[in-house]
Amino acid sequence: MSPSLQVAVSLEEPSPAEEDGRPEKPVCEHCRSSAVTFDASACWDAKEQQFEYDILFDEVYCQHCEGKQRVDWIPV
Ligand SMILES: [Zn+2]
Repeated sequence: MSPSLQVAVSLEEPSPAEEDGRPEKPVCEHCRSSAVTFDASACWDAKEQQFEYDILFDEVYCQHCEGKQRVDWIPV
């Protein structure tokens, strides 16, 4: 059986915002823009037959600053 190309995204690690159950969102610490993207690396979990992602929650790429910035989590 070959692995399905359909990737099941499972975020095993809760984001810092999810720990207390209140909705929050990540923003750039520098310009407060929410147009930020996270770096992640994926590795194949042969047992679960799906990708596992390691996400760097502390650092983001801010599309407004056009560079890497620290991330801040604020209430939505
Ligand atoms: Zn920014």
